[in-house]
Amino acid sequence: MPDLRRTDIQYLHGVGPKRAELLRKELGINTYYDLLYYFPFRYIDRSVINRVADLHGDEPAVQLRGRFITFTTAGEGRKRRLQALFTDGSGTIEVVWFNRVASIQKTYNTNTQYILFGKPSMFNNHLNIVHPEVDPLTVENETQGLTGVYNLTEVLRNRSFTSRAIHKLIVGLLNTPAVQHVADTLPPELINRFHLMSLAEALHNIHLPSNQQALQRAQFRLKFEELFFLELNILHYIKGSSRRLVGHVFGRVGAYFHDFYNNILQFPLTGAQKRVIREMRHDMGSGKQMNRLLQGDVGSGKTIVAFMTALIALDNGYQACIMAPTEILAGQHLDTIKPLADAIGVKVALLTGSTRKRERTMIHEALMSGELQILIGTHALIEDTVQFRNLGLAIIDEQHRFGVAQRARLWSKNRVAPPHVLVMTATPIPRTLAMTVYGDLDVSVIDELPPGRKPVTTVLRHEPDRFKMYQFVGSQLRQGRQAYIVYPLIEENEKLDLHALEQGYEQVSEVFRQYRVAMVHGRMKPDEKDHQMMLFASGQAKILVATTVIEVGVNVPNASVMVIEDAERFGLSQLHQLRGRVGRGADQSYCILMARTDLSRDTRHRLQVMTQTNDGFVVAEEDMKLRGPGDMEGTQQSGIAFNLHIANLAQDGQIIQMARNAAEDYLRDDPQMDTPWGRKMAAHIREIFDKQTNWGLIS
Ligand code: ADP
Ligand code: MG
Repeated sequence: MPDLRRTDIQYLHGVGPKRAELLRKELGINTYYDLLYYFPFRYIDRSVINRVADLHGDEPAVQLRGRFITFTTAGEGRKRRLQALFTDGSGTIEVVWFNRVASIQKTYNTNTQYILFGKPSMFNNHLNIVHPEVDPLTVENETQGLTGVYNLTEVLRNRSFTSRAIHKLIVGLLNTPAVQHVADTLPPELINRFHLMSLAEALHNIHLPSNQQALQRAQFRLKFEELFFLELNILHYIKGSSRRLVGHVFGRVGAYFHDFYNNILQFPLTGAQKRVIREMRHDMGSGKQMNRLLQGDVGSGKTIVAFMTALIALDNGYQACIMAPTEILAGQHLDTIKPLADAIGVKVALLTGSTRKRERTMIHEALMSGELQILIGTHALIEDTVQFRNLGLAIIDEQHRFGVAQRARLWSKNRVAPPHVLVMTATPIPRTLAMTVYGDLDVSVIDELPPGRKPVTTVLRHEPDRFKMYQFVGSQLRQGRQAYIVYPLIEENEKLDLHALEQGYEQVSEVFRQYRVAMVHGRMKPDEKDHQMMLFASGQAKILVATTVIEVGVNVPNASVMVIEDAERFGLSQLHQLRGRVGRGADQSYCILMARTDLSRDTRHRLQVMTQTNDGFVVAEEDMKLRGPGDMEGTQQSGIAFNLHIANLAQDGQIIQMARNAAEDYLRDDPQMDTPWGRKMAAHIREIFDKQTNWGLIS
């Protein structure tokens, strides 16, 4: 029987070299296997047919059955279009095509029954449908309830390679013995325990579902399988004991830690802070390298945790470094940490791109001699010229700006063994997802804010409210508070955005003539930026007009208002980050989202999430539902560019959890994966993840 993964698609009946080339180029389908795993993105239920007479033009999508009455072309040149009148007996609807006019006119005729699928709308008082999917009604598709619809590219469509054509090829493939008798990839215990469909049955039903229930079971089986192998890969190969790197053993907690904890620390740690410190002490004492992700909402107190973890490294005779994504943030870390470190006699320095040569040389020397114990900085830290005497711990703040490869460069900073790594993020994502997306990291969560914090009051406002908004900001300033006003800035649109920012700055300066207004944006020289930030941080400037450079970490507790202009252009997580800049003191703080009046329903919903919750996990989950995990900050650079066919990391949280548990259970019984099924699955995993596992082995 042919091996599905190794049989070239051109040999499939109905394909041949030419179409094979198209499939390869357009859809990345090279083999039988690729085609078999090219799943429909949607299903048409042939049993549900709408009546033209019932349409209002606001339905999301409808299916009509009937015939074309007339075809006419209209317009000239690029405006040329084909218009057809379609009837199902209950009424008529206009159908319009703006391209491929000639070929469409040739394909369809007035004496065949068709099924149309598309979104109707009202245009000049009559109903129309633009570019619907059109299928001739055949016995086959009339009797069949659910039919898969496949994603196509424009090129394929222009070559009349329709969804139906793909479907036909797949049906042919499903009828080959190689597919009908395809061996199951999951052991029978799992199939029984989770009541899974067999692989052969699932593949059949995903393309040709016999009914809705069979489709759901097929989807479940295929998603489960995909996630199960993903989790098995993570647990066995990436985190598995055999691959874990040897780590420095930090066996004790000593003088620095105790001195700080007993004499310097001003407040009791929250329960969550204590718990994560314990988790890290355990990791760092285990003899394996720690690779831990610390999630905690903005303001949850990650900095103090980072500092105390660094003290454990120092107590064991090692150095530590803290790396932040921007100079501003690195500077703020220094400002927070330096006084604490000074108080217990620990040496700290700051290294960034703008550190002067002389200073830099001194830092290099002090690092090599071991005199300098904690180095804080930006990307400048991972340059090769920066060498430590014995780096034991690397802390990375706001991980979404650092990829796995960059983290790996830290490994080389200690020649004996890689340092322990603590990655901190304020973009919380659900735990199981975090364990999957950051497969190489263990996850700790600070799920408790320090006592006494008042939730930030968030409101959504529009242009007509601008004057009132300024009045409100003014009232806060009169009470001695400060305000941020943030503008979006995206690269594609940089000129326009900078213009809007500068105009905003002028307007704000005009409205608040009696106050000093500072401004920062990413295009400024670092010196100028620092100067402006300093004006705001010191309270000399009451208002800071800024782009998202202030997004992460900036800490000015006296600021009580965050105004976000064009809020609809920000992602939810970003809005949450920005909001986290206020509410840092004991007083009530406010976040005002300024948005266009004519928001789409989705956008309005997105912004309303912000007004309804302060919980970063809820925000993150909503964000993920709306945007999908591929777009989430972090997942792109996390290094796990999964090639998932069917599972959706954002939506299949429950299945991820089941798959995770199943993988853990499996490895408990077969830790080396050397039973017959273990070996079979190991081979399968290598087959799927081979191109992707390398990053897990970086050392
Ligand atoms: P983030 O997690 O956003 O980095 P920070 O570490 O900047 O949060 O902490 C926010 C503020 O809360 C800081 O001013 C810090 O001193 C304070 N803080 C941290 N932990 C506690 C605590 N347990 N009790 C009271 N205040 C705390
Ligand atoms: Mg922070």
